[in-house]
Amino acid sequence: MAKEVLSGLYQLKVPIPDNPIGYVLPYLIPGDDGYTLVDSGWNTPEAFAALEAELKEVGVSFDQIKRLLITHVHPDHYGLAGKIKEVCGAEVIVHQRERDFIRSRYRQPAQLLERMANWLIENGVPEDEMPDMQQSSMPARAFVVPVDPDTVLWGGETLDFGVYRLEVYWTPGHSPGHICFYERAQRVLFTGDHVLPTVTPNVSLHPQQQGNPLGDYLASLERLMPLEVEEVLPAHEHSFPDLQGRLREIIEHHDTRLDEMLAIVGDDGATAYDVASGIIWTTGTFQSFSHWTRRAAISETLAHLEYMVYQGRLHQTKENGINRYERAEPEE
Ligand SMILES: [Zn+2]
Ligand SMILES: [Zn+2]
Repeated sequence: MAKEVLSGLYQLKVPIPDNPIGYVLPYLIPGDDGYTLVDSGWNTPEAFAALEAELKEVGVSFDQIKRLLITHVHPDHYGLAGKIKEVCGAEVIVHQRERDFIRSRYRQPAQLLERMANWLIENGVPEDEMPDMQQSSMPARAFVVPVDPDTVLWGGETLDFGVYRLEVYWTPGHSPGHICFYERAQRVLFTGDHVLPTVTPNVSLHPQQQGNPLGDYLASLERLMPLEVEEVLPAHEHSFPDLQGRLREIIEHHDTRLDEMLAIVGDDGATAYDVASGIIWTTGTFQSFSHWTRRAAISETLAHLEYMVYQGRLHQTKENGINRYERAEPEE
């Protein structure tokens, strides 16, 4: 059921089959020249049919969609972009940092797979577990029809559709080119996966995300702190009112997680694999996870360990080609 959030602006609901998060919430925004759709859904017949039915319910056809704004290129947001483009020729818009992933992830992944294998081994994954983890994101490619963007954003732009105006906030962390959109006059914020009401989005260090992604993520949360918002419009779960409260909760969650990980590193040091398999994750134990979720847990762990390297709490060493993390100073 489409939900009217503001006059003529709808929150749609598109299912993600066989996925615990259930559905993605694209937003349909009216404008002078037609509609803008924020995010899309996986490329499955059910998702496309659901999107079409939701549009029909609010009296909009695909031809009226002029723009497709993508918060980031994960399959649940970007998957249907190519198909929508084919149907109505909408202008596809992503952040410039996301554009590069379209080729390396969806069009020609061979090189990425090779890097992934080395990366898993370097981070302590046992040889026999590696191949399944390496291949684990390949099935998701089936749910994406890749299309190159017509326009890229950098953050800081204002997209004026006539009725509503969106300010673009670059919020790296969950993905390097993740963007949020702020409608200042209406006090609503479209947060994509950056801020969700109960789930904490995955923040990962992986072969395609270098540097300090958790540092980027926390800084991106802080960047939203001053915004006056009455309703947060995320891409999953449901809308909610208290932006600042949720930002604080997420920051606290990561603080706690950092301490837990530091405790597991202990006095002897550990690999990312060791730490990931020792954490009590909110969604279960590492041992109960699928190969894909295990890989996500390792890259999430690594984002935290690397953050503590930047903070000076840990340092990284290499032993026989394997990265280990050790406390920078012995515990007092
Ligand atoms: Zn995502
Ligand atoms: Zn998502």
